[in-house]
Amino acid sequence: MYPTQQQLENYASLAVNVGVSVQKGQTVVVMAPISSAPLVRLIALKAYEAGAKNVHVEYNDEELSLIKYKNAPEEAFTEYPMWRAQAWEQFVEQGAAFIQIYSPNPDLLNGVDPARVATASKVASTALSGYRGSLMNHTNAWTLISYATPEWAAKVFPEVSAEEAVQKLWERIIDATRIGLEHPIQAWKEHNAKLLQMVELLNGKRYKQLKYTAQGTDLTIELPENHIWLGGAKANSKGVLFNPNMPTEEVFTMPLKDGVNGTVRSTKPLNYNGQVINGFSLTFKDGKVVDYFAEQGYEALSNLLNTDDGARQLGEVALVPHDSPISNSNVTFFNTLYDENASCHLALGQAYPVNLKGGTGMSPEELLSHGANRSLVHEDFMIGSPDMSIDGITPDGKSEAIFRSGNWAI
Ligand code: ZN
Ligand code: ZN
Repeated sequence: MYPTQQQLENYASLAVNVGVSVQKGQTVVVMAPISSAPLVRLIALKAYEAGAKNVHVEYNDEELSLIKYKNAPEEAFTEYPMWRAQAWEQFVEQGAAFIQIYSPNPDLLNGVDPARVATASKVASTALSGYRGSLMNHTNAWTLISYATPEWAAKVFPEVSAEEAVQKLWERIIDATRIGLEHPIQAWKEHNAKLLQMVELLNGKRYKQLKYTAQGTDLTIELPENHIWLGGAKANSKGVLFNPNMPTEEVFTMPLKDGVNGTVRSTKPLNYNGQVINGFSLTFKDGKVVDYFAEQGYEALSNLLNTDDGARQLGEVALVPHDSPISNSNVTFFNTLYDENASCHLALGQAYPVNLKGGTGMSPEELLSHGANRSLVHEDFMIGSPDMSIDGITPDGKSEAIFRSGNWAI
């Protein structure tokens, strides 16, 4: 089923009013694939209705990216248009809200030299580090949503016709974002309240360590003393609540960057910059990946890990029950926004300063000294499974069950 006009309007309204909570006089920046124009126009309309001053839309086209990767000379990937980076920093300073529509084609860059992709993504991350830092600091409101495109749908449902695949993908999106309900905004309020309950419970526990066991996984993660669990709606620097991910099912915090030991196995494919990495495992010693393996995408995984020192260490630990709406759909989405919300996951790279008490006011050096990881990348990968157990070690050394058989046990 394709979304009805009402459902698309609900989606736009959710992005504007729950995703970023547009304020009077605010600038709204929308980044979106060209195929999502029908939704983008509704988002612009809803944003102006909510009092936005200006809605700035930047369309992107994956096919054009592919043409560039295949045909541009090498030096095209070693430089970034700095005017764009400066514009985005200016939007940050103006207090803009950022809405991104993310609908990646996982097979886009098949056949493109992974080294070329690695260079381009490192150059872009470096140029945009100011903008990305502000988003990770929750200075501005931002939200990430997805739109069903034929290329993405074909990867998720390869066994049916192109048209049927898009319809099936929309069904999943409509379900996960609640836009098919009569009162989606109210449903999101209730969902955020539920996630907040879990966040408060975990913040009260002050766990020193998390121990993960599952097939292929035996991992210990220390948590910084002043870690903060977050989930659902967050407050930006002006105290405005926003939902960075729609859908979202996770509660997450930061690991102590040098306190990770053992081996973890991935349980879903990771679409990293248009390249699929699958069936991989990582072995950590004192926080660093010292050994790794991948059935598919080994070179892309190597490039990710070698981006910088911090890319070999963890910046996020997130808990998602196996029995959750997106997980129960039993679909692999090849889109981290969806797959991470179906599975416990970890992220390689940059930690969110908001996951540490006083973190948003700390200098990069202070954050490092508190155990927060720093990197140009932040890449979530999925590790949850129906056989996963997670135990929390309390400050006085007791072990408590957090997850049993993939689901909450506290
Ligand atoms: Zn996450
Ligand atoms: Zn993440």
